[in-house]
Amino acid sequence: MMSLAAATALVGCSNAPKGQVASFTGEDMDTTVDPSVDFYKYANGGWIKQHPLPDDKSRFGVFDLMAEENRERLKEIINDVAANKGPQGSVSQKIGDFYASGLDMENRNANGYSSLKPYLEKIAGLTDKSQVPALTAELQLSVCNPFFNLFPDADAKNSSMCIATLWQGGLGLPDRDYYFEPDDRSKSVREAYVEYLTTLFTLVGNDSLVAAEKAQKVFDFESRLAEVSSTKLENRVPENIYNKMSVDSLKLISPDFAWNVYFEGMQVTVDEVNVSQPKFFAALSQIIADANIDVLKDYMTINLLADAAPYLSDDFVAANFKYSSTITGVKEMQPLWKRVIGTINGTMGEAVGQLYVEKYFPATAKARMLELVENLRTAFGQRIDNLTWMSDSTKAAAKDKLAAIMVKIGYPDKWKDYSDLQIVEGDYAANLIAASKFLTREQLNKIGKPVDKSEWFMNPQEVNAYYNPSANEIVFPAGILQPPFFYADGDDAVNYGAIGVVIGHEMTHGFDDMGRKYDKDGNMNNWWTPEDSEKFKATTQRLVDFYNEFIVIDTLRANGELTLGENIADNGGLNIAYQAYSNSRSGKPAPEPIDGFTDDQRFLLAYARVWAGNIRDEQIYLQTKTDPHSLGSLRVNGQMPLFDLFYKSFDIKENSPMYLPEDKRIVIW
Ligand SMILES: [Zn+2]
Repeated sequence: MMSLAAATALVGCSNAPKGQVASFTGEDMDTTVDPSVDFYKYANGGWIKQHPLPDDKSRFGVFDLMAEENRERLKEIINDVAANKGPQGSVSQKIGDFYASGLDMENRNANGYSSLKPYLEKIAGLTDKSQVPALTAELQLSVCNPFFNLFPDADAKNSSMCIATLWQGGLGLPDRDYYFEPDDRSKSVREAYVEYLTTLFTLVGNDSLVAAEKAQKVFDFESRLAEVSSTKLENRVPENIYNKMSVDSLKLISPDFAWNVYFEGMQVTVDEVNVSQPKFFAALSQIIADANIDVLKDYMTINLLADAAPYLSDDFVAANFKYSSTITGVKEMQPLWKRVIGTINGTMGEAVGQLYVEKYFPATAKARMLELVENLRTAFGQRIDNLTWMSDSTKAAAKDKLAAIMVKIGYPDKWKDYSDLQIVEGDYAANLIAASKFLTREQLNKIGKPVDKSEWFMNPQEVNAYYNPSANEIVFPAGILQPPFFYADGDDAVNYGAIGVVIGHEMTHGFDDMGRKYDKDGNMNNWWTPEDSEKFKATTQRLVDFYNEFIVIDTLRANGELTLGENIADNGGLNIAYQAYSNSRSGKPAPEPIDGFTDDQRFLLAYARVWAGNIRDEQIYLQTKTDPHSLGSLRVNGQMPLFDLFYKSFDIKENSPMYLPEDKRIVIW
């Protein structure tokens, strides 16, 4: 189930915390590296050496280390809850039983895939394609998402209301491009995927020849869906994905799918729907009409099995791991308890989050953070005033929008209510299905209602942050408000370089290539003069071209267009945070160096530090193809050459590899 298509997170994958004071003593650095050659290595070389990639990780960086520490905390919290379980129906009963059922491999192996059998039988019983819409609804309500997704989202032109949103989907590979790319990495992923589907078919009783044939046909069917799916770049354009229409109009473009039956099956009343990719839904109707009914049945079977595999018996879990390791390069499965905590986070995240913040998030952190956010807001306003490329009228609208940004820190004021969720002892897959039903229903119930502005789209324990354009809000979960991002009583230079840049980054998302299209109330509404829009596009195109030059692996280059919004946000984040830091310093005596580094150097080192990490080649490829965030190394080495402070602080000379002439240094906000 996905929600809030448009929110932009700080990192693609999330993780969590630690508590020493920041120090740049060289232990985490590699001072044998020249900062003008590779600043990322100079700042982080020591850390990178001391934290080799664990076999069960495709990427391991500061974020991931924080997440690991967080998982240990959650484990303790959950064990505690499980040991003191309340009565049936209490939150502690649900967390305790869910967790225990996931860990009980003996029981999971005995159950096999029996919890899925009622659904598999329904799929097998399909006799006519006219039954597909009703069955699609039944599966989407409970266990998996064949063909496409339906979820509520704020109406982009009436942001206080939730509207039914249809989004392309139904693919098993990580992105449409994986179905076609001619390079060897994509080919081996495709082969591993077909092999995985074959294994899944054999695990539910097909002989291997039949299974292989079915797998190939399902792959071919998915390829047809992939062909008509929009690319990530197309989906980055807010106007492309806003196509509000009546259900009657949807029926006109997508005539062979009985939408009334489908919506009825989903138990939602829908008059209007935002069809995010009309081209996809038009083609889907035709693709289903053309398909052989047995292929449709096999496709839905796989959609269900592949979704459920990680939560079933060992044979399914192993097949899933074998396939996913081809994509990510990991060599070993995560320990079972970590996987199950991941499930609890994904389904009952706020229930454990509430316990987490009680124990680990001090009220003082919230107050200090609020103060920093307001300092960043002031600094951003000063920078808007001083922009030389923007007219006064656009500046006034920009400052209105900046002033209107809402701020959420730590955890939600109102916690999710889990009373409709039924969790039983001992049956993990059944619990998963119950959780999936609960979450889907909770989402669908929002359709046609006013947006609940108090809702959070991340758990408080996550090490991440986001900007939500339709609410014009920035959100910082408790999980990120810890070292090395945030030191409640720490060095200002370090706080501004780390969490300060994060705050500036999230604020800048309201003004990046997508965010700028929304006004202060979160409506898609143009507040730019045509000249200012043109200037913005010309400068950001230079940023696209600049990032396109970096080779990340083999001959693959960074995707400057896909990562544009994030690169604008990093660029703005650094400039705004430094402005805020300078403001905080004005009128005070120049701060003393610490550990031999000036405060400006510490600001830059603190920024670089949060992106320290090791990563597998497979993950570099995956992230470059699918993640709108630049790789950690590029978030540092891509931004430093653009930033004047870098040259002054580390004495970067002309002709050194990281040097850019002044007229090539791009600053947007
Ligand atoms: Zn971001």
